Amino acid sequence: MLRPALDLVLSALEQIQENSEKKLCASRAAIDRLFQAAPLVSSNSESLRESKVDRLAAVQARVAVCTKCPHLACSRTQTVFGVGNPDAEIMFIGEAPGVEEDAQGEPFVGRAGQLLTKIIRAMGLAREDVYIANILKCRPDLPPGSFGNRVPTPLEMQTCRPYLVEQIDIIQPEVLVALGAVAVEGLLGTRGTMRELRGRWHSYNGTPLMITYHPAYLLRNQSPSEKRKVWEDMLQVLERLERPITEKQRNYFL
Ligand code: SF4
Repeated sequence: MLRPALDLVLSALEQIQENSEKKLCASRAAIDRLFQAAPLVSSNSESLRESKVDRLAAVQARVAVCTKCPHLACSRTQTVFGVGNPDAEIMFIGEAPGVEEDAQGEPFVGRAGQLLTKIIRAMGLAREDVYIANILKCRPDLPPGSFGNRVPTPLEMQTCRPYLVEQIDIIQPEVLVALGAVAVEGLLGTRGTMRELRGRWHSYNGTPLMITYHPAYLLRNQSPSEKRKVWEDMLQVLERLERPITEKQRNYFL
C-alpha cells in the first residue's frame, strides 16, 4: 500500500526536478535513500497491520479486561481466549471454559480437551495446526460450593459472541467445526438436536460448518458407534480440505 504511493511521490519529484528550472531541495542521493527505505517501511507497516497474530492479540487484550457479564467477570480466574494456529484451516468451536480451562487459561485442556486433541491427532494434525476457541470466554459461574460446569445461557453467549466472530474473521479458516448443540446455538442462534444437526455441512457466513458431538458426550457415551459418528464427521472435514486419508483412518471404530 505504502510503496506504490511512495513510488508516485518519488517519480513526481523526479519529473519536477527534471523539468523545472527551480531546483528541488532533494538530492539524488536522498531520493535513492527513500527508494531503499520504502520496501522496509512498507513490509513492516503491512505486516504490522495485517498480522493475524497482532490482530488476535488486540482482541485478546480486550477480552482479558471484559466485564460485559459482570457476574462472570467477578467469578472467573481468567478469560480463556483461544489457542492455535492463526492461519489454521480448521477452527474448532466449543461452548465455554470449564474448571480446568478457567485455571489454565486455555480451551479444551480437561478430559474432554484431551479427547479432542486425540481426535485432532487421528486426523493427522497437531493441536498447534488448528485453532480452538469457545463461544464464551469466561467460565459460567456456579453457586458457591457447587462442582462441575454449567451450560452458558443464551444471553451470555449472545453477549460474548462478537469476540468469536472477530476471531473467525481474522483467522478465516477453511472449515469450522462446532462441538455440540450449545456451540451451534451460540454460533448460529438456532437450537436443534444433534441428531438433526450433525454429520452434514452447514454454513456460517459462507464458511463450511461441520457440526459434531462435543467430546464430553463421547466421554459419557463410550460406545464405538457414537465415536464412529464423530469420526465420520471428521472424515468429511478431511475430504473437504482435500487431505489424504489412509485406509487405517477410514476404518477407525468400524
Ligand atoms: S463471557 Fe465474554 S462478554 Fe461476558 S464477561 Fe466474559 S469475555 Fe466478556
